Amino acid sequence: MNELELIRHFFARQPVSRADVAAGIGDDCALLRPPAGQSLAVTSDLLVSGVHFLPDADPVSLGHKALAVNLSDLAAMGAEPAWFLLNLVLPEADAPWLERFCRGMFDLARQYDVQLVGGDTSRGPLTIGIEAHGFVPEGAALRRSGARVGDRVYVTGTLGDAAVALLHRLGKERLSEADFAALVERLDWPVPRVREGMALRGIATGAIDISDGLLADLGHVLEMSRVGARIFLDKIPLSPICREHVGKSGWEAALAMGDDYELCFTVPTKNTGALEKLQFACGLHCIGEIEAEPSLRIVDESGKPYHPTFTGHDHFAGK
Ligand code: ADP
Ligand code: MG
Repeated sequence: MNELELIRHFFARQPVSRADVAAGIGDDCALLRPPAGQSLAVTSDLLVSGVHFLPDADPVSLGHKALAVNLSDLAAMGAEPAWFLLNLVLPEADAPWLERFCRGMFDLARQYDVQLVGGDTSRGPLTIGIEAHGFVPEGAALRRSGARVGDRVYVTGTLGDAAVALLHRLGKERLSEADFAALVERLDWPVPRVREGMALRGIATGAIDISDGLLADLGHVLEMSRVGARIFLDKIPLSPICREHVGKSGWEAALAMGDDYELCFTVPTKNTGALEKLQFACGLHCIGEIEAEPSLRIVDESGKPYHPTFTGHDHFAGK
């Protein structure tokens, strides 16, 4: 199968066909019609074999996750997903692998009505790069720089589940089969909080998605907003399985390993009533408060300061 046949067979046929795509796959560029009065939100994320996933990873979940992490970035800006590009580096044209990869990717694309409009394909070590585009009304994006003193700090869902599943997969934690099955969903099939992010327009002041761990990602919000925060360990939302892990092994999985793809955002007290009306199915927890004093203060279950010995995931740390 040559490159053009591969593109035609796997990528040109797809489930989503949007009215705002004047020309999709097949020309030198895609031609797209962004709505008037909206900002185009653009993001990209790379998944590199051996760095972000194990070489024998299931291609269905890889296809899902590669798109999901990009939709999660759009969600963190409050943007509505519209289009994406796929840059694929493949060691070989492995048709069964591509079939499965596309199934995972296109199933998620269909759920969010996001259309694949182009990309590039080359031979080399397995790498998946997706670039996603979405819309957000001008001035309504949820910026990392928007947190203000007195805002409450919230997170969606629960933290640490994906990390504990990864520790088990790497042989560093022993879970029962049932517990692993429950958590591995969070690692391999993250659900981007797109509806939640869009619902937070006009309510949240600042937001980020948690990909590198709460401490690192909330840290980015604090730095860009030039504020600090106090958070409470007993308010961090944990699944029962993760809570058990934290009890035995400490807070690193929940606070610093990342791969959560939950939203962390700040809300002024005048908007907390509106926030409570939103009723997110994934759950929502207030974990602390923005303060004027820079940097992050963590308070443990007994009210004492807690000083973590770990930070967030950083590909270039110490190298
Ligand atoms: P060019 O030589 O201009 O880069 P290509 O032959 O690489 O063109 O691509 C032909 C068409 O197929 C373009 O519209 C491009 O966007 C699309 N395309 C190539 N690779 C992919 C891919 N992995 N996913 C989606 N579309 C792709
Ligand atoms: Mg090309």
